[in-house]
Amino acid sequence: MSKPSIAIVTGAARGIGAGVAKRLSSDGFAVAVVDLDEAASAGTIAAIAEAGGTAVAIGADVSNPDQVAAAFDRVVAELGAPSVLVNNAGIIRDNMLFKLGVDDWDAVMAVHLRGAFLMTKAAQKYMVEAKYGRIINLSSTSALGNRGQANYAAAKAGIQGFTKTLAIELGPFGITANAIAPGFIATEMTQATAERIGIPFDEHKVNAAAVIPVRRVGAPADIAHAASYFASEGAGFVSGQVIYVAGGPKD
Ligand code: NAP
Repeated sequence: MSKPSIAIVTGAARGIGAGVAKRLSSDGFAVAVVDLDEAASAGTIAAIAEAGGTAVAIGADVSNPDQVAAAFDRVVAELGAPSVLVNNAGIIRDNMLFKLGVDDWDAVMAVHLRGAFLMTKAAQKYMVEAKYGRIINLSSTSALGNRGQANYAAAKAGIQGFTKTLAIELGPFGITANAIAPGFIATEMTQATAERIGIPFDEHKVNAAAVIPVRRVGAPADIAHAASYFASEGAGFVSGQVIYVAGGPKD
């Protein structure tokens, strides 16, 4: 690869983030695996190392400015300047609006929006210097509205506006910004939803697959494939886009 090849993936200890980190590694990137608990990323790091890739685990809360700054210091010292950032870290705090507490509103906004903002602001400095960068933000089909997710839907719709604005502001510096909006992906996040509504996860997946046009739920690898495309040098004329990876049309 002729361009710098260091990628940061947040929330990559498990789920979609782990899938994206592994895929970017197999694409040739050295990967910084950022998650709340550094030790929790051991599985992702080991999988990448076993496949012959390079990865470092970095513990950081993406919503904390000091921890984000420290994380970037480590990425640059241990791998080099990042050319790809995947803002994937996320949480859900689902409840119907009339029961939704302000703490659960603020927590979701903090991880998804403040986190993506802080990480991107830190990353763009290196990308602008290099006149090259790829920013990939995780939105969701919930951005279109989803019962019990007023906080999450607002955050994921916000991610789309954030992404389009990044594309406009950073485009002149060779930086693209795009969003991936997954539908139902089988991870601990969707497992937690099944538990909340009191349905076994397998049954929850079968129910979800029945209304998805391709008749299956998604896997982290489905999202990783889209991320691989947006992270590629050849995708340099694609920016400010939201791709729904949901087994059917969603917007
Ligand atoms: P997941 O299995 O719950 O994994 C999320 C990861 O993010 C966890 O390792 C979590 O760490 C980490 N994280 C949470 N808060 C963080 C913070 N403040 N700083 C750093 N890391 C943090 O979720 P997933 O299903 O893979 O989802 C990944 C992304 O895709 C999220 O943005 C999610 O909203 C989005 N998405 C998922 C689906 C789906 O169906 N699964 C659909 C649409 C969009 P802890 O374990 O320590 O909390």
